[in-house]
Amino acid sequence: MRFKYFTKKIILSILAIFLSGFFLFFFISKANVTNYFKKSEKNTRQEESRYDNIHVNTTEEQDNEGRSLLYLSKPVTENTAINKIIDSISDDFISKYHEESKRQERAYLDYFHKTGLEAHSSVAHYTQHFDIPFANEDYLIVVFDQSRHTGGTGDNSVFSHIFSRQSGEEIPLSNIFLLDNYLEYLSDLSREKLYLMIDERVSQEQFEREADRLEWASEIYKQANEGTEPILKNFDGIVINEDGSLTVYFDKYQVASGSEGIIEIVIPFSEIADILSPDIINLFNLKEEEAVTKPKKPTIKQKTKSNINCELEKCVALTFDDGPSIFTNELLDILKEKNISVTFFVLGKSAKVQPETIRRIVEEGHVIGNHGWDHKNFKNISLEQLRKQIDDTNNLIKDISDYSPNLLRPPYGAYDKQILKNTGMPFVLWNVDPQDWKDRDSRLIKDRVSKAKRGSIILAHDIYKTTIEAIPEIIDNLLNENIKFVTVPELFAPQEMIAGKVYSQR
Ligand code: ZN
Repeated sequence: MRFKYFTKKIILSILAIFLSGFFLFFFISKANVTNYFKKSEKNTRQEESRYDNIHVNTTEEQDNEGRSLLYLSKPVTENTAINKIIDSISDDFISKYHEESKRQERAYLDYFHKTGLEAHSSVAHYTQHFDIPFANEDYLIVVFDQSRHTGGTGDNSVFSHIFSRQSGEEIPLSNIFLLDNYLEYLSDLSREKLYLMIDERVSQEQFEREADRLEWASEIYKQANEGTEPILKNFDGIVINEDGSLTVYFDKYQVASGSEGIIEIVIPFSEIADILSPDIINLFNLKEEEAVTKPKKPTIKQKTKSNINCELEKCVALTFDDGPSIFTNELLDILKEKNISVTFFVLGKSAKVQPETIRRIVEEGHVIGNHGWDHKNFKNISLEQLRKQIDDTNNLIKDISDYSPNLLRPPYGAYDKQILKNTGMPFVLWNVDPQDWKDRDSRLIKDRVSKAKRGSIILAHDIYKTTIEAIPEIIDNLLNENIKFVTVPELFAPQEMIAGKVYSQR
């Protein structure tokens, strides 16, 4: 017993000496290492650029004895408000670099203390470059390219800012485009270009089985689709080039695997001329080259109306709001094939950029209603503005197609007594709403529309691809139930529709 106790004591003592020695070593070495590696270097310089009144400011910083590096360049303009925005972007990047370099250095020291070895992966390399694809007295476009390399991983993002050089304000993307649903257009056009790139890539790759190729391709398509969903974040890297084309930059990982890096596509001016705002077209002097030809006024023969009698037959009226859009022609093809007439409640500003589509709608026997000029809520505008919304749209449609709309659908279905009195048109609402604007899901849309009954007015939007995709089956399902599709005036015939009255079903 005694002997055992003694032995225990010796072991404990040895352990204590060993441990204190270890801690001593640890603290000394930590102190040394910390002091030794604390060294940083930083220098900043400013030079002239090839643009008038724009300088280039460059900061280079080295920390953790060269394991962490920052290289940052930014433009400095004559406008302090613009500089403030650029500084805040740059400062944000610098502070993220500092955080990361500290984090990497802690990892480095931990590894060093545990193993006595130097970790080569503990680095933080941050780089910001910029480019100015366009600058004149009025506008300045700056593209930032930021890359972050930490340890074994890295990412890269490219984004652009458009500034008014006079006011110093940033110009939001929505001001560059004429239409509110410009993101849908960008998404669609980008996908078109990406698909071409993917197809080429897929055809080059060797596979043992064709099924493997298809599987591989479908993964790539999926990623391309996800990264081009019509949301602002996906299109933060847009640059207008001097010839009016758009370059869209996608971040690393956004639309393809990381090994592909930054992906860039170019949309030619001819494909976006219709959706660019007049300011931008003027700014780049694009009008002369690619004049938006004043629509000629051909005589349009409207198809004779159907002979469906809704007093006897089960009728529904399919209606489409917010167009015309890039999807409307596809919809018209479907309607033509199914031999069905519908009612379009169009926006004046969209009709203006797609006069051919408006003419086709009329020619093929559909009815056009007025949905206001630019989707303003009628309850939020003055009576004078309301009149203008309605008159401008009616006049434009009459002007391009010789057709005078005589139905009105207020945006959001919003109206009051005052509005009803002051428009001089019948109000057409709906009683079946598949909420296709909210749920971009063809299956859900189909299910919801199939609830339509005799006399229903069905609301849909020809600005969503998912809606157009659901239409053929919706039509077939309802036709199978012996339901007839008619235009809104036909639904209420032989009664004339009355100005100031609200219709939501027969
Ligand atoms: Zn609408």
